[in-house]
Amino acid sequence: MADKRIEVFDTTLRDGMQGLEINYTLEDKLQIAQELDAMKIDYIEGGFPLSNEKEAAFFREVRKLSFSHATVCAFGSTRRAGGRADHDPNVTALLDAQTPGVVVVGKSWRAHVEKVLGTDEEENLRMIADSIEVLKKEGRHVIFDLEHFFDGYLEHPEYSLRVLETGTDAGADALVLCDTNGGNLPSVVSRVYAELPRDRLAPLGGHFHNDCGTAVANSLAALEAGAVQIQGTINGWGERCGNANLCVFVPNAILKLGYEAACGERLPHLTSLSRFVSEKANVIPDKRQPYVGTAAFSHKAGQHADVLAKADYLMEHIDASLVGNERKILLSELAGKSTVVEKLSKYGIFTKNDEVVKELIGVLKEKERDGYEYEAAEASFDLLVRRALNRYEPIVRIRNYHLESYKAYETPSKTVGRIFMQAHGRDLMGAAVGVGPVETLDAALRDALVPHYPFISKISLTDYRVRVLNPERASAAKVRVFITSTDHEGRSWDTVGVNENIVEASWEALVDSLEYYYNEFAEDTYAPD
Ligand SMILES: [Zn+2]
Repeated sequence: MADKRIEVFDTTLRDGMQGLEINYTLEDKLQIAQELDAMKIDYIEGGFPLSNEKEAAFFREVRKLSFSHATVCAFGSTRRAGGRADHDPNVTALLDAQTPGVVVVGKSWRAHVEKVLGTDEEENLRMIADSIEVLKKEGRHVIFDLEHFFDGYLEHPEYSLRVLETGTDAGADALVLCDTNGGNLPSVVSRVYAELPRDRLAPLGGHFHNDCGTAVANSLAALEAGAVQIQGTINGWGERCGNANLCVFVPNAILKLGYEAACGERLPHLTSLSRFVSEKANVIPDKRQPYVGTAAFSHKAGQHADVLAKADYLMEHIDASLVGNERKILLSELAGKSTVVEKLSKYGIFTKNDEVVKELIGVLKEKERDGYEYEAAEASFDLLVRRALNRYEPIVRIRNYHLESYKAYETPSKTVGRIFMQAHGRDLMGAAVGVGPVETLDAALRDALVPHYPFISKISLTDYRVRVLNPERASAAKVRVFITSTDHEGRSWDTVGVNENIVEASWEALVDSLEYYYNEFAEDTYAPD
């Protein structure tokens, strides 16, 4: 049997940073690198040390951390034309990064050599050879990225092949064929790898962009045609349409094609890694992402849920827990009793004929008629279930809140809020000033509660969405508010509120969020002064 061992190379912190609206602080980058190491990703590309001070600082700081599995790599290009590699700023910056691995990128498309580098074919080959040799002499693990390889090979295969041979002869540890413009399809990728004389070359890798929506498919085609290293990013974020999404590529390679990778044993952590990186990037996770999205194993119709109760494989392509995700039974009027039974199973064994099941279906139908929707607000549904089962403890008794928005000419508008409530027989008051009503209510609640319930400081609101339910009623229309909250451990939950008054709908979702956390996760109990 052919060797099915592969290496996974992550470029979330380098190519991934080129993505639209993706930014990480230095601290975020260091934390992501540690999480990637915990995931047993083989290589972590930390950035381009020459590009700016933040990137250079990353390499100074990352040296102080220990990595149990991953090889940390710096990224840079081959020496400049007409110079010496050992005095070249590109090559020196790679060495100064002091990482065990380096990724050196060079040209492999003849047109780029002439039109972009402005040099000739032979000098480009010398630039590649010299740079790799210097880096190897300094003891680095050298990965050679061949920029625009596929476009170059399709136009002038003999030159692109010479670039591969030059990299091999100079001692590169891997030759990574890059589809830099992302314009090639899997059939081309398969054909190109198959045509290369692999026995005469260093091990081949692949780096694919998603401009045709096929970066993962191209990566899989490359593997099946003999590549042994694939580069990609967590969640697929990267330049333009992104890079190969490792959250999709890795489970496909391991679970569907039977490849082996060090990160295979950590596969059940994939979903939490995906969400961790989303959190750091402050990007709302794509619910429909294969394998790791919240919709990936969600089922709506009652009939689906009925079949699932009989045998999982009839309705799901893999067991969600293999990638650390979980099955979600979506709630709606369509859903049958078995959905509610499944939801209740967290609290004990129930059957369709139990009173509580009938009661919950009644409550659900009534709430849905009022405009509530629990498919994207499971935490609010969980509170309904807890109330029905008498397993609910209110965090506080709210007596009233008061909000006042004001705007003086030439100053930004402000909202002042006060909340009065009772907890454990004591009156509490919270006050805050914020920009909008939701922010102000949230801040006033925290003002009153954090001294008594320190866990609240771990919760943050990460998303707030408003939907108008009956727009024909214009300004008297009912609105539905969804709030997504997260805690410092990366857990996330959604709550819903509905009202004609947007402030009241928001307030309802906000209180549900805290009550859900309090009932579900919080370990601290009420702390008196
Ligand atoms: Zn790239």
